[in-house]
Amino acid sequence: FSNTIGFIGLGNMGIGMAHNLAKTRIVYAYDASPQWQSKIESANIKPVSQIADVAANADTIITMLPNDKIVKSVAQEIFRKQNKTLIDSSTISPYASYDLAKMAQDTKNIYTDAPVSGGVGGAKLGTLTFMVGADKELYDKVSPILKEMGKNIFHCGKIGGGQIAKMCNNMALAIQMISVAEALALGKNMGMDPSMLSSIMSVSSSRCWSVDTYNPAPGVMPNVPSSKDYDGGFMVELMLKDLGIAIEASKKSGTDTQLGQHAQQIYNKLNEHFAKKDFAIVYQELTKSK
Ligand code: NAD
Repeated sequence: FSNTIGFIGLGNMGIGMAHNLAKTRIVYAYDASPQWQSKIESANIKPVSQIADVAANADTIITMLPNDKIVKSVAQEIFRKQNKTLIDSSTISPYASYDLAKMAQDTKNIYTDAPVSGGVGGAKLGTLTFMVGADKELYDKVSPILKEMGKNIFHCGKIGGGQIAKMCNNMALAIQMISVAEALALGKNMGMDPSMLSSIMSVSSSRCWSVDTYNPAPGVMPNVPSSKDYDGGFMVELMLKDLGIAIEASKKSGTDTQLGQHAQQIYNKLNEHFAKKDFAIVYQELTKSK
């Protein structure tokens, strides 16, 4: 890999990732939104006005885009050229990953799925977890690049493996958040302080990230979305996208994911009024008197 790299999709996540790459590389960058260039703080990030210009300047291109459809349309543009390596870090369906691998193969290009966990904070700090679907040779080639943006890089087997890992993690998270919110709401409705109950659960058998790191009850922890009116976190609509991917995959793979489906219904309802709020807002709904 040369010292230049391409980056497409400089939104909440992508902008931080691109800045970490720009510490040692020239980053040719493109985003479809009109104002994105105002967020550039490094002279090493070179904005270009179309995808073709990214592909003309860089052999390795990272994408961080909203969904399957957009990733495929951007990939199509990139794959007008040959011998490009596309590292897609967006969260998309594993089935879309299989399609992208085929598109790459048919056009003499290379594709790997490398979705992330760790949120906007992790993207900025360069501490993301990457889940990579690739053969060993490709994994060895891309992991030094991913290390510039992340702390933990996992090889998840062949193409699509990264998306399978991401989808399974987020389905479990969706369910766990509801379980913690229900327990804290039940305690609260019976007069127990959510802070006290959270302290107990954090060292007891229901301990999990949703209780000890990202607590959904306002005021239990500072600096988490629940203490900031559920702003600045992982939006309900994004969680719903991830659950949609997991439920589709459950059906296609013949897996019984009843709780995943129930969680999807709960977030679907929340999405009607709170699409842009953090997904921990499920606690607020559960504590409303019925
Ligand atoms: P975002 O909406 O902030 O960023 C997406 C960017 O893609 C936007 O800037 C948009 O203008 C750009 N874009 C859309 N269509 C485009 C096109 N055709 N060509 C070029 N650019 C285009 O979203 P985000 O929060 O940065 O998330 C990006 C991806 O990362 C999603 O797949 C999301 O599920 C995943 N993700 C997000 C988080 C998080 O906490 N936000 C965490 C892990 C994974």
